[in-house]
Amino acid sequence: MAETADIVIIGAGIVGCSLAYHLALQGASGVVMLEKDLICSGSTGRSAGGIRQQFATELNIRLSLEALRMFRRMPEELEVDPSFRQVGYLFLASTPAEMALFRTNVELQQRFGVPVQLLATEEIHTLVPYLCLDEILGAAYCPTDGYAAPYEVTMGYAAMARRLGVMIHEQRSVTGILRQGARVRGVETASGPIHAPVVVNAAGAYAGLVGDLAGVQVPVRPYRRQLFTTGPLPEFAAEPPLTIDYHRNWYFRGELGGCLLSGPKDEESTFNTNVDWDHVALSVEQALVRLPILAEAEIHRGWAGLYEISPDSNAILGPVPELEGFYVAGGHSGHGFQHGPITGKLMAELMLTGTSSIDISALSIERFRTGKVVLEPMTAHQA
Ligand SMILES: Cc1cc2nc3c(=O)[nH]c(=O)nc-3n(C[C@H](O)[C@H](O)[C@H](O)COP(=O)(O)OP(=O)(O)OC[C@H]3O[C@@H](n4cnc5c(N)ncnc54)[C@H](O)[C@@H]3O)c2cc1C
Repeated sequence: MAETADIVIIGAGIVGCSLAYHLALQGASGVVMLEKDLICSGSTGRSAGGIRQQFATELNIRLSLEALRMFRRMPEELEVDPSFRQVGYLFLASTPAEMALFRTNVELQQRFGVPVQLLATEEIHTLVPYLCLDEILGAAYCPTDGYAAPYEVTMGYAAMARRLGVMIHEQRSVTGILRQGARVRGVETASGPIHAPVVVNAAGAYAGLVGDLAGVQVPVRPYRRQLFTTGPLPEFAAEPPLTIDYHRNWYFRGELGGCLLSGPKDEESTFNTNVDWDHVALSVEQALVRLPILAEAEIHRGWAGLYEISPDSNAILGPVPELEGFYVAGGHSGHGFQHGPITGKLMAELMLTGTSSIDISALSIERFRTGKVVLEPMTAHQA
């Protein structure tokens, strides 16, 4: 007998798992989530886990504020410890234009109650004494930003979704989208079709390919970014804020008493997730510009993941008008871990009631046709 579902979600990263949970929580039944690999094995499991309120658009700030509340509630709601560490986020500015951007952002963020402030170089030095501040003009700092554990959070959502009746199939790749005219009818997989009136593309960096399967254009492209970690460092005993050298698109944070530092980001789009060990020397050289204390440190581990980049570095959320029943939840462009929880909640509301408690219509895929894109200068590949 053919398999059927009410809603099929493609992809079990943070977005798919949060969506599955929130759909079930809000009363949906017959939800099936398909994952080609294992839960959280995509970009989510490879992310730096950063969570911040320091965005440049009102909508992203509002999404972050609600996401922050959700991270705080996770021990009770998901019965997992998300290891949410509010160590702060420190954005370093190197040019007058960057300072001006940060000033504008800080004013906007403060209007929403974000406890963010601009710091002069002496204040940055007090916060992180071992940071080399050559060419740095100032910074934006928010002490309630931080990072959490992507695996624990995603598995928490997956476990709760299962408890609420969601079926999760791992190692089951979607190989085709079934459609009848301008209506979606389900998905094809290696082990047979699943007929469903609603299908959600939550395939992360693969969202463009899944769009192709459905015959619709989903403008999400994969870009590899590498991360490396060092062994313990005495200076990191007091954990530093997640620090971003905005000008150089480079960042670091604490990790198990050592340093997690960003490596190169590929300029060409690729699905390659191998670590390029030849780049370690270059990455360390980059790191030494701001962190001379790393001169004696050893790189212990490294991994790579894919950013899922949309044309305006903002998420693509909502229905795809030309294919009834087909939705996209992705394209977060490097901030999908932190916005994954709220994305799932709002997408579930939208799918089940037609509206959402935060208006996300500005993030609809339609914007690429109408030209109403929303540029977000505080994302584009920053943690
Ligand atoms: C190095 C790095 C650091 C990052 N740091 C941060 C950070 O600090 N903070 C932050 O918020 N974000 C960060 N990100 C971005 C973040 O990881 C992503 O935005 C987020 O994980 C996207 O979640 P997702 O669920 O959409 O995608 P994914 O986690 O990739 O999940 C999509 C899933 O879909 C599956 N899939 C794809 N195609 C199919 C198919 N045909 N059939 C079935 N399944 C399929 C994939 O296997 C995958 O598991 C970082 C990313 C990278 C690469």
